[in-house]
Amino acid sequence: MITAVNDLKILLTDEQIQTRIKSLADEINNDYKGEEIVLICVLKGAVMFAVDLSKHLNMPLKMEFIKLSSYGNGMTSSGKVQSFGAHLEEINGKNVLIVEDIIDTGLTAEFLINYIKETYNPKTLKFCSLLNKKETRKSSVEPDYYGFEIGNKFVVGYGLDDEGYNRNLNYIGYKEI
Ligand code: 5GP
Repeated sequence: MITAVNDLKILLTDEQIQTRIKSLADEINNDYKGEEIVLICVLKGAVMFAVDLSKHLNMPLKMEFIKLSSYGNGMTSSGKVQSFGAHLEEINGKNVLIVEDIIDTGLTAEFLINYIKETYNPKTLKFCSLLNKKETRKSSVEPDYYGFEIGNKFVVGYGLDDEGYNRNLNYIGYKEI
């Protein structure tokens, strides 16, 4: 097993991530042919993914950034959404693609989807996650697009943090427990 910084084992290399992002973008380009989209990046974890994905998207596109300011216990309805430097009203009537780092229990995705649907009036709404932990799902929500299915590991890197650190890694790693 290759060991990276801080005793991390590499789960997905930079090359694997970038290759998969390119093929995901091809799929998304194909699905939204002739359409405009608003890509909503969920801070902070999805920032690397959203930026790299957006570089391969070829439709007219606007990017917005939102942050869940509080999760409470269990990341449910106590979550509040802050939007940064953006007018989310612009998403009314638009094709909206939420871009997340990882879907684990699915409760964050469920909250965000319901929030956007109830607060705005998007033409369409889809959810794209780089990583998908299927084993730990507690919600019926599934992503419309995802990059990789992974097991029940705590992963870091490429936007995902470990107590704030390691978001800057260009690969995704995990700690052997
Ligand atoms: P969910 O609501 O689907 O359980 O969790 C989604 C959020 O939990 C993600 O946006 C991410 O912030 C965090 N999360 C879930 N699994 C992991 C993981 O393996 N590593 C890191 N760094 N964050 C995770």
